[in-house]
Amino acid sequence: MTQEALFKSIQTYLRHQRDEMVQLTQRLCAIPTENPPGRQFREQADFLAQQMDDMGVPVRVLPVPEEYVQKYTPRESWDYPRFNVLARWDAGADQTLHFNSHFDVVPVSPNWKTDPFQPVVKRDRLYGRGTSDMKGCITSCIFALKALKQCSAAPPWNIEVSFTCDEEIGGHCGAGYLVKEGLVKPDAAVICEGGAGEIIMSGHRGVLWADVLIQGVSAHGSNPEVGVNAFEKGNMLVNRFLERHKKDRQRETRHSMDRESARRPSMTLGGVSGGGAKVNTIPDDFHFTIDRRLIPEESVKQVKSDFREIIQTAMQEDKNLKAKMNLLMGLDAAITDPDEMICKTARRAVRRVTGKEGKLSVFGAFTDMHFFVNHAKCPTIGYGVEGDGIHGCDEYLVVRSLADTARVFAEIALTVR
Ligand SMILES: [Zn+2]
Repeated sequence: MTQEALFKSIQTYLRHQRDEMVQLTQRLCAIPTENPPGRQFREQADFLAQQMDDMGVPVRVLPVPEEYVQKYTPRESWDYPRFNVLARWDAGADQTLHFNSHFDVVPVSPNWKTDPFQPVVKRDRLYGRGTSDMKGCITSCIFALKALKQCSAAPPWNIEVSFTCDEEIGGHCGAGYLVKEGLVKPDAAVICEGGAGEIIMSGHRGVLWADVLIQGVSAHGSNPEVGVNAFEKGNMLVNRFLERHKKDRQRETRHSMDRESARRPSMTLGGVSGGGAKVNTIPDDFHFTIDRRLIPEESVKQVKSDFREIIQTAMQEDKNLKAKMNLLMGLDAAITDPDEMICKTARRAVRRVTGKEGKLSVFGAFTDMHFFVNHAKCPTIGYGVEGDGIHGCDEYLVVRSLADTARVFAEIALTVR
């Protein structure tokens, strides 16, 4: 069979799998893998492993060691064991292409119009928690493999598939565990989310999360002069961070981003903040968090040292100010060179499937991509189903894009070289 004929039969096969793809996504979403705390990971992992096994693809469910869980997840998650699924279609090749998806979802609010864990189709949309982030993408990945099997395709590289946990809380027990423990060492990778339609994710910004703690001296509210108000000192610091950020915002990346606003650094102060205990007591503690997103030209090391300098300078100028910063997370941006084979291969596949020119784009928000790019030094792209409402209410995916995305995955698997 020529490659054209093979692509055609894959397309034909997938066109008739619409209902099956919707059903599989519904079944995946019906296992509510909310994270935090990390519910029903075993059930989800076993179900996914069964899917691979049914196709004749050798698969393992890998439990994450307890030490890992305790090191990388908050205490509330320690009673919820972590699992990852790793499957491998050995084509007898030297090189391996990896497809990664995460199966955890963010918790739901009570404001959904439909049951978030019993997804329903309305017009061409499937509504449910995790439909687009990213269980629909898992469906497309599984059906890409089904299509390849069904059409007796012989992929040029080995195909490795992982379904991992914990992306929603940083990914260290999921993709991070597989990569850092050397359980996967692919030559190219596809994270099955990020881009959609004609957009292919070729990288994402970096991030620095920190908590700033201010220590004051408590006193009676009628006599504030003898105390040190940690809230007021904290506000003074907040203003210094804002001033600094105005300067940082003048930096602009040379990369093409998914949205205009992501071309510059961004900062959210006080995602979590608080302190003090009583209305008539001078607060002796106050803290606020910083969520700083880094353009690819910045580094965690530099931004962290800038932040420490802000605090140091403020403390030198105000002898009553006692503050320190704890780093919660720091990730440098992940960037795959547009000239890498995987970028070119993905662009060709997207053009054939969507009829539009595949466009590489660096994303403002991060995914598990950085583990593959920065740790495994593996050229990686991100691509998945179309949808909206991620992390919010009434999340949905566009049903038509399930088959299109599966086609893109299958064609990438057939044309890597
Ligand atoms: Zn996701």
